[in-house]
Amino acid sequence: MRKLLFSGMFRAPVTEPRPPTDDAALRELAQAVDRSARRRLGHSLSIREVDAGSCNGCELEIHALNNAFYDLERFGIRFVASPRHADVLLVTGPVTANMRDALERTFQATPDPKWVVAVGDCAVDGGCFAGSYAVVGGVARVVPVDLHIRGCPPNPNALLQGLLALLDRVGEGGRSA
Ligand code: SF4
Repeated sequence: MRKLLFSGMFRAPVTEPRPPTDDAALRELAQAVDRSARRRLGHSLSIREVDAGSCNGCELEIHALNNAFYDLERFGIRFVASPRHADVLLVTGPVTANMRDALERTFQATPDPKWVVAVGDCAVDGGCFAGSYAVVGGVARVVPVDLHIRGCPPNPNALLQGLLALLDRVGEGGRSA
């Protein structure tokens, strides 16, 4: 035990270095999302995240948007605790049978106008969980989806680009997946 504690004091941490990120590009992207939200919605963007049955990999990337490194709130984009305060539902999945009802009710509780973004490959069609007895399928099987952000999982930059694409469609009056 003493040997283990001693070696732990000098051994380098067993973690990967963070991926290189262009902070200027990220800042520009997040500011573009905020500008677009204010222009199209008249206020900054409020997001409610819904985990409809994911493996939590997508959640790690979504949570990263709020960590000290990305710190998305500095650009006015915020995650809210209630769907009643949200403009966008960010849904990860596959949608499991147990979460189907909760997702439907969350969608109904979100005031209009509202948009649904399905995050991750599983949210498209069930991904690697497709065919499971516990899985209904992609998010679009349960609620209307406005945009898919693919990836397993999509990284924070891809999430921001997806939100920007969504706001562009809102400006065009479009609704498509
Ligand atoms: S897309 Fe990948 S990371 Fe996201 S829930 Fe599915 S398996 Fe997990």
